[in-house]
Amino acid sequence: MTSCTPVKTTCPYCGVGCGVEATRLPDGAIRIAGDTNHPANQGRLCVKGSALGDTLDLDKRLLQPQVRVDGVLRRASWDAALDQVAGGLRAIINEHGPDAVALYVSGQLLTEDYYVANKFMKGYVGSANIDTNSRLCMSSAVAGHKRAFGEDIVPGCYEDLELADMVVLVGSNTAWCHPILFQRITRIKEIRPQMKLVVIDPRRTATCELADLHLPVKPGTDVWLFNGLLCYLAKEGVIADDFVTRHSSGLDEALAAAHVDCGDPLQVAAICKVDPQALLAFYQAFAATRKVVTAFSQGVNQSSSGTDKVNSIINCHLATGRIGQPGMGPFSLTGQPNAMGGREVGGLANMLAAHLDLEKPLHREAVQTFWDSPRIADKPGLKAVDLFHAIEAGKVKAVWIIATNPLVSMPDADQVRRALDKCELVVVSDISAGSDTNAHADVLLPALGWGEKDGTVTNSERRISRQRAFLPAPGEARADWDVLCDVARRMGYAGFDFTSPQAIFDEHARLSAFRNGGDTKRLFNLGHLAGLDAARYDALAPQQWPHGQARLFGDGRFAHADGRARFVPTAPRAPRNVPDEGYPLILNTGRVRDQWHTMTRTGKAAKLSGHIAEAFIDIHPQDALLYSVREGELARITSAWGAMVARVVHGGGIARGQVFVPIHWSDANASDARVGAVVNPVVDPVSGEPEFKHTPVRIEQF
Ligand code: SF4
Repeated sequence: MTSCTPVKTTCPYCGVGCGVEATRLPDGAIRIAGDTNHPANQGRLCVKGSALGDTLDLDKRLLQPQVRVDGVLRRASWDAALDQVAGGLRAIINEHGPDAVALYVSGQLLTEDYYVANKFMKGYVGSANIDTNSRLCMSSAVAGHKRAFGEDIVPGCYEDLELADMVVLVGSNTAWCHPILFQRITRIKEIRPQMKLVVIDPRRTATCELADLHLPVKPGTDVWLFNGLLCYLAKEGVIADDFVTRHSSGLDEALAAAHVDCGDPLQVAAICKVDPQALLAFYQAFAATRKVVTAFSQGVNQSSSGTDKVNSIINCHLATGRIGQPGMGPFSLTGQPNAMGGREVGGLANMLAAHLDLEKPLHREAVQTFWDSPRIADKPGLKAVDLFHAIEAGKVKAVWIIATNPLVSMPDADQVRRALDKCELVVVSDISAGSDTNAHADVLLPALGWGEKDGTVTNSERRISRQRAFLPAPGEARADWDVLCDVARRMGYAGFDFTSPQAIFDEHARLSAFRNGGDTKRLFNLGHLAGLDAARYDALAPQQWPHGQARLFGDGRFAHADGRARFVPTAPRAPRNVPDEGYPLILNTGRVRDQWHTMTRTGKAAKLSGHIAEAFIDIHPQDALLYSVREGELARITSAWGAMVARVVHGGGIARGQVFVPIHWSDANASDARVGAVVNPVVDPVSGEPEFKHTPVRIEQF
């Protein structure tokens, strides 16, 4: 590119997927602006996106491969490093079988990187041991979608949030975590003040400032609340009988399960610990408003009953026929920039590429035939938490971690440290030189970062956008897809002669259309994007799949074999670990407005640290008195799994019996506030998503 020519790309942070224009100025600085033509943000950027230009320096970047020699990481050539990776993987596979190796990847990867990683593991190594940090983020939504719709589909689009007469935000601090969507909701609220906003969240967050109604539910009680709503809708005669009869099955079973504990709103209010009048007001408003969008995020997904929470929400939309039409539907707000793209290429341990199913022989046969691969994984691999336990147990002996920092982000994160210390071969591909996880690598591989790499991402509304490079590759850094291909070739695998992201995208698009996987109902299909040459791929405009469809299921046809949606009975159950005398408080974790994940990028922008400069423990003032900790002083939080230290604050939004700690800080940014070490490793039995929102803890002076 020439200087001062804006390059259109996509923000690397949250799942809103805002379009960005990056302009390289004559003095070398990068000017960042919102892309006015991108449908997700229409020119807006939040504070994180606006500060992207401040995060592009090479300070703390990993710029050369390193290999551990005599216990010390030393600079190495790419050849030496990749020979060690390929040779190490090959030796372990030969001796212990394909399931003894694993990849742990990331929703930060571009779709093309993800595609190659998945093909490498499932088609050539022959194991489905590839999981991703998206497991920690939206796997409950994936599982809920598949159960209800037959495929992992978000039915609506962002415009629905503007067309709705009522928006329900569940377990989502949208104002901080999906800021541009919240700005879109705010603008509509200004134009149409009668549009109702309901927030369901244990904390009173910034999102509640705009809400007409906030239901501060007891953590973990969402299924009771939505089962209660389903019962109320049935009692009030608001069921869309024609839609339900023609396009769904299982309502009676779902209602029967809901009625066991949730038929009486007063009882539901008592269980959820919310004001009965407020609960009833929500039920009445939902029943009376046709155009309702229920958007949910990590407060729903990150739970030992996350999949049931998702289905209890979807059940209410199916029962009222409010799905796939303008201004209505359940809506999963994805956390990461490319969690959706990863799902499309099968980047989870229980999925195949192109939304095909690992457990279906026809699907496996279609993918193997298309790849012409020597083998195909035929059983689900290990999900994230199980994977690191298998590493510690010595069952998995090599792991290649790409673009993620599990020593900070995983639950029971000290267990991850033990696992990596025991692992025979730990390979880490990263842009950052000093992450907590890097310190445990045997081989460190420098990756390209945002602004340097090239490919596609898919946002929460199924919109594929290009991330384009506008900076040269620094040092010896290489694209993740390129390094994966190089290792695959060194291991003797054919099928990895890609020379560009465009060639990978083309194969991905062709696979999505190949025999339709033998499944005529499947909706994921990029066949119309197959065969793009380099120029057309480079010019690819943001677009939704399938082929420009903003909404799906509006015609009542779903992706199950019989074309019907499924109501899923969701018997409510409490979180596995509940407070007791030793650990009397419930720890909730989440993001702050101006930081992203483990801060390896946002931590570079001084203006982002101006919002909240350090980790904190938010606690109710009366609980602080009760446990003898003081605002502004350090305190230690301890669970049965680990401990962390941070400063006590009274944010004003936390209920008695709960504490909140942000997820971003760790040893690498000079704090003892690595909250992942404290979080219990309990997972949802269907999705495998960990329970980040509910860990019993105690607090004491430090
Ligand atoms: Fe980036 Fe999300 Fe902010 Fe948009 S809302 S600029 S995608 S962080």
